[in-house]
Amino acid sequence: MTSREIRQAFLFFFKSKGHEIVPSAPIVVKNDPTLMFANAGMNQFKELFLGEAPIKYSRVVDTQRCLRVSGKHNDLEEVGIDTYHHTMFEMLGNWSFGDYFKKEAIAWSWELLTNVYKIDKDRLYVTVFEGDSEEGLPEDTEAYGYWKEHIDSTRILKGNKKDNFWEMGETGPCGPCSEIHVDCRSDEERRMIDGSTLVNADHPQVIEIWNNVFMQFNRLKDGSLQPLPAKHVDTGMGFERLVRVLQGKTSNYDTDIFQPLIQLIAKAAKVQYGENEQQDIAMRVMADHIRAISFAIADGQLPSNNKAGYVIRRILRRAVRYAYTFLNFKEPFLNTLVIPLAQQFEGVFDELYKQQDFVQKVVLEEELSFLRTLVTGIQRFESYHTDQGLVSGDFAFELYDTYGFPIDLTDLMAREKGWKVDMPGFENALNKQKERSRAATAIDTGDWVTVSEDGETHFVGYDNLATETKILKYRKVSAKGKIQYQLVLSQTPFYAEGGGQVGDTGILIHETSKETIQIVDTKKENGLIIHFSDEIPSHLEGVFFAKVAEDRRRDIQSNHSATHLLHAALKQVLGEHVNQKGSLVSEEVLRFDFSHFAKVSDEELRRVEQVVNAKIRENLALDERRNVPYNDAIDMGVTALFGEKYGDFVRVIIFDENFSKELCGGTHVQYTGNIGFFKILSEGAVAAGVRRIEAITGRRAEEIIDRQDELINELKNLLKHPKDLSAAITGLLQENSKLKKEVEKSLVEKAQQLRQVLVEKAIDINGVRFIGEQVELPNADAVKNLAFAIKKAIDNGLFLVLAADFDGKPNLTVVLSDDLVSRGLDAGKIVRELAKEIKGGGGGQPFYATAGGKDSSGLTVALEKAKSFVG
Ligand code: ATP
Ligand code: MG
Repeated sequence: MTSREIRQAFLFFFKSKGHEIVPSAPIVVKNDPTLMFANAGMNQFKELFLGEAPIKYSRVVDTQRCLRVSGKHNDLEEVGIDTYHHTMFEMLGNWSFGDYFKKEAIAWSWELLTNVYKIDKDRLYVTVFEGDSEEGLPEDTEAYGYWKEHIDSTRILKGNKKDNFWEMGETGPCGPCSEIHVDCRSDEERRMIDGSTLVNADHPQVIEIWNNVFMQFNRLKDGSLQPLPAKHVDTGMGFERLVRVLQGKTSNYDTDIFQPLIQLIAKAAKVQYGENEQQDIAMRVMADHIRAISFAIADGQLPSNNKAGYVIRRILRRAVRYAYTFLNFKEPFLNTLVIPLAQQFEGVFDELYKQQDFVQKVVLEEELSFLRTLVTGIQRFESYHTDQGLVSGDFAFELYDTYGFPIDLTDLMAREKGWKVDMPGFENALNKQKERSRAATAIDTGDWVTVSEDGETHFVGYDNLATETKILKYRKVSAKGKIQYQLVLSQTPFYAEGGGQVGDTGILIHETSKETIQIVDTKKENGLIIHFSDEIPSHLEGVFFAKVAEDRRRDIQSNHSATHLLHAALKQVLGEHVNQKGSLVSEEVLRFDFSHFAKVSDEELRRVEQVVNAKIRENLALDERRNVPYNDAIDMGVTALFGEKYGDFVRVIIFDENFSKELCGGTHVQYTGNIGFFKILSEGAVAAGVRRIEAITGRRAEEIIDRQDELINELKNLLKHPKDLSAAITGLLQENSKLKKEVEKSLVEKAQQLRQVLVEKAIDINGVRFIGEQVELPNADAVKNLAFAIKKAIDNGLFLVLAADFDGKPNLTVVLSDDLVSRGLDAGKIVRELAKEIKGGGGGQPFYATAGGKDSSGLTVALEKAKSFVG
């Protein structure tokens, strides 16, 4: 069976058991503060397990793209070294939301593996939870009993809490689980060592392929377990491991999922896969990582310097580094794998297929810039010195952190020099950094406290800015020493941050006590709308009046609708390749990131502004359609965004059927005329192939125009109202530069004259040519230039003292020719002595020294006194 067939067989098997096939959620997670990337199939259903969203289908099947490179599940360092952990992998899952439970889940997994996929029964082992006395949890005898109907009891192993009790996180849904393991060893090996002893023992040929989780509890903050109102099934089977078992391979990388990529790499590197362990690891790392990078970018996470973007950048760098070191790829290569990868997933995950050129371009730019860093890092290492043959932990950490060198690379380079790396020192530096970032983001979230059992939140904010409501529940959250409360309401007009639009602010007034609290922000966590406040009402029960800050919301709406017009205008002016890559819509400004490979010219920007403003003047009515079936919306030709998770029913926002049609959950103006006016502030690059436009609308655009108007009027006043302002300024500039040149020229002439005059004034004192004069020059530089010009003219026996007065500040300069210096005279000493006459001090070198002072009347005396040094 090919991998495509294996995936299909899974989906169809569960479809035949009444499951709805649903698409994978994007790999980049939004609206969940605890998670950056999808790391399990269950992430997208979290709110269903928590009872925070209505259940649409009680049986669901899918394949979810997952990434395990950060947080609780982080397999990155194993990847490539072993043969069955990946960064990005597909998790096949079947789900029951309050429907079937252990019996069916166990029976169907057995049927699928042994009947459909025809895996040898005597290669399979299963595990069940043995119980935990500390938690007061019993053994999962139920699961044991159901397994016994299918499999010999010697193949049912008991496992502890670590392997057989699944928890989503510190708190939240959890329950016992039952894993299925496959023994892929040869018959001979299996005869020698009993497979049951190798389960969960990190044996590369005895691997876990499927985990069936039975969600029964909710873990609270104090650690206690509460039974869930409904029981659920959550299963996850590693697709790449399954394919490897079914294709009879000993490594995931030998399957038709990875071999095409590996062969391309091997060919380009002019090596054979399977001949050299180091090179094989490098090829596996490359073939694996390009998947993670490509899908993350396709889902909207560009490599960057912080958070999720940095995780992606690090994965990319790890791949480039292996390619560079072990396969001698000194030029970008990874990006060329994007296209074949996209083809491999055509019809499975089309996000990548549709954006392959864009993704390739981004990867290429990242490769280029990292290769430069890598070379610098290697040079940095080459110039490192150690007497004890030990690379310090701090230096290893610097290479790791600044140049993206994984520690094994530093270790390898050290060994080539006969050195070692101070590993504990490195670990220490690494932990310190982790500690720092943990402390910066540490949030202490309390349990929800229920106030009223009135079901779910209804959002009414598309139609109303105020409503009566009740508090359903609240919790206390502290971060960085600040305490905040999060409130959930039965009805809310507050729009929660999402789709680029910022969250609403406003007030909550208690009906009877009239107590008012400020809502400072609104956000979504999974499906839940959460209102943030710095305070909590003293009476939580009763009716409240919730009111959104109106003016702010109107400004936000103007910017949001203008963003849609901008998007459509860009497609019109620049071309259909323009795709939204991110947006921010606040009350101040709108920011729109989009794919485009060149700078947008001023001319194009003006055309975009014109198109948008024309649509504003047309005063188009908002055509808002709620609950449109997703497929109908796509047929209408709406613009859907990559990396967004859409439900079966979507909201469509239209301004002119033939102009702008978008899937959007945000709030909008009723008529485009409400936007008033649209003005672009800036255009620039944010990443390879991604441009950003910042613009303003309405009141703020008016303010900017007013300010510019004022400025122009000021200029006109200053220039006495010329007919043509710009010609007047150009004229001024030209005149200014002409004058500057003239001044410079006359200064030079003056200095030449002065020099001539002074040279002629030299008098002979005991064979020394003495010049002592007061000069009229504007500053110390001019005096210095003059002094050196004289020194050039008289290079023997010269004793020069210049006195000057810069606006009441006396200044003395002494210059001696070299022969006088050799005879023991010192300009520094002389100038210090003379400076006494002007109540000042100074110094310098033996041949040139200067002094400043406070009393200009002493200059003449000083000049006279100078003679005494040669007299
Ligand atoms: P393991 O102990 O092998 O790391 P796990 O206990 O972390 O697995 P689960 O969290 O139960 O795995 O995930 C369910 C299934 O997903 C596993 O049975 C396995 O088949 C697959 N899986 C988990 N991690 C990876 C990974 N990094 N690469 C590929 N498949 C994986
Ligand atoms: Mg794991």
